[in-house]
Amino acid sequence: MKVSTTAHASGTGRLEVICGPMFAGKTTLLMERIAAARDQGQAVRVFRPSRDTRSNPASIQTHGGRSMAATEIDAASEVLEARHAAPLVAIDEAHFFAVALLEPCLELRRRGAVVLVAGVDLDHRGDMFEPFASLVPHADQVHRLQGICARCGKPSTHTQRLVEEEGRILVGGDDLYEARCATCFRPPREARP
Ligand SMILES: [Zn+2]
Repeated sequence: MKVSTTAHASGTGRLEVICGPMFAGKTTLLMERIAAARDQGQAVRVFRPSRDTRSNPASIQTHGGRSMAATEIDAASEVLEARHAAPLVAIDEAHFFAVALLEPCLELRRRGAVVLVAGVDLDHRGDMFEPFASLVPHADQVHRLQGICARCGKPSTHTQRLVEEEGRILVGGDDLYEARCATCFRPPREARP
């Protein structure tokens, strides 16, 4: 698929990753960047995965209740569709995508877009979700945010799952998860595959 890049100045392409545990303000930062771009008159496209069933499909949402309109997509490659072309492309909840997210992001950067990818970098075992393992080495900039450990109050780097569920993706909010520092984080005991 070929999309005209005439709307984008060449050499402006950029890939930024906004990652960290849940409850660290990732979506809030993403929304600030989106709002700033819009204030400058830039067109922005915002995407979220259809697999994330927590919120309204037509929006991204912070845990504080702020929301912003978004396009729901099933596959990462959909961000490349011509009708989605914009100088700034924001993708939230990126941990729901697989490693297949990397190439579309690199292609958007080649086309001159600023690409912002936000999501949880470490799963409930403390292992990195594939999109971030592949995106981080390619990123122009990585913003690794921290929240507050629910146990000790230190900066949080991990997301503690509070229920015993084996699946890597378990959709939920503060009913199922809390922020923890590396010291307070307790990975599940089940054997790794
Ligand atoms: Zn702690």
